[in-house]
Amino acid sequence: ASSGVEGETFTIATDTTWAPFEFQRDGELRGIDIDLINAVAEDQGFEVKIDVLGFDGALAAVTAGQADAVMAGMSITEERQKTFDFSNPYFDSGIQMAVAADDDSIQGYEDLAGKTVSAKTGTEGFAFAENLGKEHGFSVTGFQDAADAYNDVTAGNSAATFDDYPILAYGIATGNVDLKTVTEQEKASSYGMAVKKGENEALREAFNEGLKNLIEDGTYQAILDDYLGEDA
Ligand code: GLN
Repeated sequence: ASSGVEGETFTIATDTTWAPFEFQRDGELRGIDIDLINAVAEDQGFEVKIDVLGFDGALAAVTAGQADAVMAGMSITEERQKTFDFSNPYFDSGIQMAVAADDDSIQGYEDLAGKTVSAKTGTEGFAFAENLGKEHGFSVTGFQDAADAYNDVTAGNSAATFDDYPILAYGIATGNVDLKTVTEQEKASSYGMAVKKGENEALREAFNEGLKNLIEDGTYQAILDDYLGEDA
């Protein structure tokens, strides 16, 4: 495939542990975002250097021109479109609440009144929880890493946490996260790769072109199946 970015190297900023989108296993960085950007790069003939910066850090690095793109399960929101240009969406997500696995006292949002919940700073889940908190009378504590936000619930400080449902579902299914969900998932934005507004247009176009090719040849579905199982 010949693209406008052939032979170039791009710095891609990503989140820290946020399985199944990015995480380390046996010292190796993997996950849906990582496999997808690598497959797109191969399809379009460019190279990537991946910087693990955390979600907030990844957005800041691209804004500051220290990285070319964010690939971190980043939701395509109207607010972010003021400062970022997004690729075509590559994954539909949603936000969900989770509580400690042994906690039966929280059955719905109304049970959070007067309590504190956790979420990752700068995320759509954080904004969602903050809005919901105004309605139901609870406050939100922000954490840099999802693991810290989840641990605050198991430690008994936060009554619940809010995050994208595929991350909670994966953590619970793999037994890595001692939480459970009791409410339905809420509609949220799809994920896209983001570049700084007005910059790296060629990279964004190459991503869209590569994504289209990978969807057509089945590679995209194979990556999802690898992490989410056959019915992903
Ligand atoms: N999808 C969420 C957002 O963009 C969370 C992303 C993340 O935590 N890496 O806000």
